Order: sequence, then C-alpha cells, then structure tokens
Amino acid sequence: MAFVRYYVGDVVKMKKSHPCGSAEWEVKRIGTDFTIVCRGCGHQVMLSRPKFEKAVKKIVIRSAEAEAAEAAKKEAASQAKVAAQTDVNISAPANTAGGDTVD
Ligand SMILES: [Zn+2]
Repeated sequence: MAFVRYYVGDVVKMKKSHPCGSAEWEVKRIGTDFTIVCRGCGHQVMLSRPKFEKAVKKIVIRSAEAEAAEAAKKEAASQAKVAAQTDVNISAPANTAGGDTVD
C-alpha cells in the first residue's frame, strides 16, 4: 500500500472495536504521536504513528482540510502539466525587429 496521509478531522475505522462498541475514531492531533477520539464514547487515546497506521483499517470520512489539500495537489499537478505544454509556445522566438531594413 502507498503511503497514506492523515489529516486532523479524518475519521478512521480501526481493525479492533473499542469496548464501547464503536470502531470509528476521529483524528484530533497529528505529529510524532496521533491523538484520536472514539466516536462512540469520546475516549481519547494517544498512540505513535506506526501503531496508529497498523490499527487503521480504512478512512471513513476525509476531513475538509484533507479534501482541500488533495484537491490543491491535483490542481498543482494539472497546472504543472499545462505549464509544461505551454512552455513550448512561450519560448518561441519573438525577436523579429531590426531585420528588415529597406534602402
Ligand atoms: Zn469508545
């Protein structure tokens, strides 16, 4: 699997359910450690990134921030593509002045 980026506000489903019965957790803080909050009972847990990544089964809800970041990434990629294509036209010589002197 490719590297997955997580964002604050993401809701993830864990492989194991919490004792309260819910398996969905909301990401509250991202860093060296992740802070997640159980959506069933509000229990807060802090765990390291590797542990978090191992425990996650899937992302249930992408946060608005994540959507925006992913969209921006796509936008940047498509703009880079356009820039690369138009670059050919832009670099066409425009120095036609001074060549046609008539006696
Ligand atoms: Zn719980």
